[in-house]
Amino acid sequence: MKIAMLARNAELYTHKRLKSAAEERGHTLDIINTLRCYMNIASRRPEVYYNGEKLVGYDAVIPRIGASITFYGMAVLRQFEMQGVYPLNESVAIGRSRDKLRSMQLLARDGIGLPVTTFAHDPKQTEEVLELAGGAPVVIKLLEGTQGIGVVLADTKRSAKSVVEAFRGAGVNILLQEFIKEAGGSDIRAIVVGGKVVASMKRTGAQGDFRSNLHRGGTAEVIKLSPEERSTAIRSAKAMGLNVCGVDMLRANHGPVVMEVNSSPGLEGVEKATGLDIAGKIIEYMEKHAKPNATKTKGK
Ligand code: ADP
Ligand code: GLU
Repeated sequence: MKIAMLARNAELYTHKRLKSAAEERGHTLDIINTLRCYMNIASRRPEVYYNGEKLVGYDAVIPRIGASITFYGMAVLRQFEMQGVYPLNESVAIGRSRDKLRSMQLLARDGIGLPVTTFAHDPKQTEEVLELAGGAPVVIKLLEGTQGIGVVLADTKRSAKSVVEAFRGAGVNILLQEFIKEAGGSDIRAIVVGGKVVASMKRTGAQGDFRSNLHRGGTAEVIKLSPEERSTAIRSAKAMGLNVCGVDMLRANHGPVVMEVNSSPGLEGVEKATGLDIAGKIIEYMEKHAKPNATKTKGK
């Protein structure tokens, strides 16, 4: 296969791993800086240009589009999809996963366990949405946050109200969520490839932090998922329409609850914790599925 990987930083662990996994299997993989692509939206001739040349002849695209460039990155990916090039994850599915509210609505529709989550646009309704989320302690999240930044635990109703007001004053969108205390500062990440869980790990936050993000100093260890956790991860990937994703869950008393489905999961933490060749599994999945015009949506 001739593969294009849309990514900004060729030096990231995950990007280097995907490139070497592709090359070891006899494919070529070009890392293309998403933001340097340019396009013409011409009738029936979707083209993408890069460094003065038209990008042609690709069998597949691996989107590794950072959250901060979702809008432009999805447009570039759509352009490939409209040419019939196979995307590892479709732009429509990536768009769903990047919108926290939309993702939770889709997961809830499919009956997947979630922490009780509430939101309101109008600050006058802060009291009510706080009550709906079960009162304090409560987790307050920026809708646009990543890597645990913008996730706050408010212990009392009073602190919850002032955090909500501060975020509102800054003009950002937030949601309120039941605090799953029994998770004990750990979460579970399952990597799903083609409807199967290929790896899983438990992440535990730095001492005294309720957030388990590895970017925030958390540590990772291998764990075995319960059958319910496994099926929750698989159903979540399906609900979002993602071929490859990382499903983040908390172990609540009443079973697994999904916090987030990540459409560009990093491989460093999970490959190092498990010793598995996940990049290789992703390329092997593409070998089986990267056929022309095989996308479900073609960007629609
Ligand atoms: P981000 O998308 O920025 O990583 P998350 O929603 O995944 O934000 O939250 C970051 C971390 O905070 C999670 O990995 C988890 O450890 C912790 N956390 C988030 N929501 C809850 C919750 N409702 N109850 C308990 N812990 C939570
Ligand atoms: N384009 C719609 C969406 O953004 C529907 C596509 C689909 O569900 O396949 O969700």
